[in-house]
Amino acid sequence: MTEAEARRLPKVELHCHVDGAVRPATLLDLAAKGGITLPATDAESLRPYVQVSPECRTLRDFLTTFETFYPVLEVAGAMERAAFELVEDMAADGVVHLEARFCPALQANDRQSAEDVLRATLAGLEQGARATGISVGAIVCLYRPLSHAVNSELARLAITHADRGVVGVDLAGPEDLPGAPFAEAFEIVREGGLPLTIHAGEAMGPESIVEAVDTLVATRIGHGVALRDDAELAARVADLGVTIECCLTSNLHTGAVASLDEHPFDALRRAGQAVTLNTDDPAVSGITLSHELALAADTWDYGLDDLEQIVLAGADGAFLDEDGQRVLRERVTAGFEAARAR
Ligand SMILES: [Zn+2]
Repeated sequence: MTEAEARRLPKVELHCHVDGAVRPATLLDLAAKGGITLPATDAESLRPYVQVSPECRTLRDFLTTFETFYPVLEVAGAMERAAFELVEDMAADGVVHLEARFCPALQANDRQSAEDVLRATLAGLEQGARATGISVGAIVCLYRPLSHAVNSELARLAITHADRGVVGVDLAGPEDLPGAPFAEAFEIVREGGLPLTIHAGEAMGPESIVEAVDTLVATRIGHGVALRDDAELAARVADLGVTIECCLTSNLHTGAVASLDEHPFDALRRAGQAVTLNTDDPAVSGITLSHELALAADTWDYGLDDLEQIVLAGADGAFLDEDGQRVLRERVTAGFEAARAR
């Protein structure tokens, strides 16, 4: 399957970071506005600095791109524009439901609070949803290197903005920093009734997944690559009904797997686990969700039935109420029926 063919299929994106999805041309505009110097002055020349090469295989090289452009995201209006354009790009790629995540504390400074950043980003997502007609939810990321106080504040902000587009909470950042110490923040999230997804089993082993599902009671796991090392845990996670947000190209670029032969996606799927395909950081990886579907189809010889099952797993795992999930399922099923008729 080609990426163009996959683009015509309805898709569900559950794991995408707003800050890893900014167009190079937008970074240039924002840098000019904020008086920030980037290593190039036109989008094509900037690309190698802010987008990894297809051969990238180390987390260090992957993260270097973020260091290059990160200051630009603090420019006033940056996250709102990035969020709006992310929805535009996802809709153009055939995504019908997007859950976009970000940690608003990372753009907070003496001119804007985390709440300001959160509200601006939510506004951008909402404008994008209205302009494109796709459904969009926001996931607030707690961040492992931040203090207990800041993560608890982020948890409170997520809860108080649940009626303004926040649909869930994530824990991101270097996995060697455990999540369990942020017990107060997770308690706030649980009491507030928002569901949790947690980055686990990407850089660290199965123990990070055990913490996520047992201690923190996450209903979705970001990456979960380490499930390949523990069949018993994989079976238990499947029994719990936890959805795994897989990000194939991102896992290659960060070195989480050396090749797709090592990726557990297909084995988990065959074992009945709810696995989904996602982009993680589409601009940094230089990919679209259609690229990921086409890649999976080519790697494991999937046809339309397989891809439909994968996209429906995303609809079932989406942070929507039952009605919302049903409507999304119908939209996906109708789109695949149309694709088969072509
Ligand atoms: Zn991620």
